Amino acid sequence: MIVIMKQGATEVQIANVTARIEQLGCRVHLSEGKERTIIGIIGNGRPIDREQIELMDGVERTVRILRPFKLASRDFHPLDTVFAINGIQIGSRQLVVMAGPCAVESRAQLLETAHAVKEAGAHVLRGGAFKPRTSPYSFQGLGEEGLKLLAQAREETGLPIVTEVLDPQQVPLVATYADILQIGARNMQNYALLHAVGEAQRPVLLKRGMMSTIEELLMAAEYILSHGNERIILCERGIRTFEQYTRNTLDISAVPLIKQLSHLPVIVDPSHGTGKWELVEPVSRAAVAVGADGLIIEVHPHPEEALSDGAQSLKPERFATLMQSLRPVAAAVGRTL
Ligand code: PEP
Ligand code: MN
Repeated sequence: MIVIMKQGATEVQIANVTARIEQLGCRVHLSEGKERTIIGIIGNGRPIDREQIELMDGVERTVRILRPFKLASRDFHPLDTVFAINGIQIGSRQLVVMAGPCAVESRAQLLETAHAVKEAGAHVLRGGAFKPRTSPYSFQGLGEEGLKLLAQAREETGLPIVTEVLDPQQVPLVATYADILQIGARNMQNYALLHAVGEAQRPVLLKRGMMSTIEELLMAAEYILSHGNERIILCERGIRTFEQYTRNTLDISAVPLIKQLSHLPVIVDPSHGTGKWELVEPVSRAAVAVGADGLIIEVHPHPEEALSDGAQSLKPERFATLMQSLRPVAAAVGRTL
């Protein structure tokens, strides 16, 4: 349930309502908008009598929230969540582009890519040090060595780093190097991991599971939010369908739909979403057009030699062209790049 306070409700009135709800064994989430305050009620305390709350001073009305996600919902938090990553406001008019290799393979590969994407205008460097691979015989990533290379690339370019964490025990290690913790599609419902990143002092990039509904994605975000971490970026990266010409089917409608349902920023991964480098540019333009807050794109200096995801990786020159081609689309929808 949410309690909508009257315009101009006083702090004392808000505090009284909060105290009453807490007395009933529930938690409170305050959302202070420009015009009015909304008090969200979470938890399973004693049943709350709506009429009693509505009789309290300063209360306009109460609204029952039927959706299973609360903290992630726009009803609880009507304004967009915006937070800074290295001075870039994600969720604002400014689009955020994350780019880099699928996996950190070597110092030379990473630094060449990092400088190239920075030059082309990317805001965040991506690169996996711990890779979730379908086969145990495929390259699993460089581990901590990869994290150290990412930190070196950040030092040289100034770009913050997003990198995947696979396991709850790994969170402290990855968080010492990463600016953003990535939860991959395969781990979207790894609740122990969601709990661990919920307690970490780092923003989280939460990717949609390849067989997950939008509601399941928002419930996964709810786990992170309920453990105290509000800096979450959601990512549409395609879902598995019967289609064989693409690696996944990118659900472009998920972007405006999630933005209706939730206040959290949403970005699109056209690389995993299509699996084909030729499709990355047109799909990136579509993502910006439908209101995505940013993109995460795989770039490799020599895709034909990549240890993972070469077929969907752009060469640095193509990434630079893509960045240019996004500008008019961004401008058309009132965003900047
Ligand atoms: C990745 O970003 O390289 C990755 C493994 O993505 P996903 O979890 O979306 O498959
Ligand atoms: Mn990849």
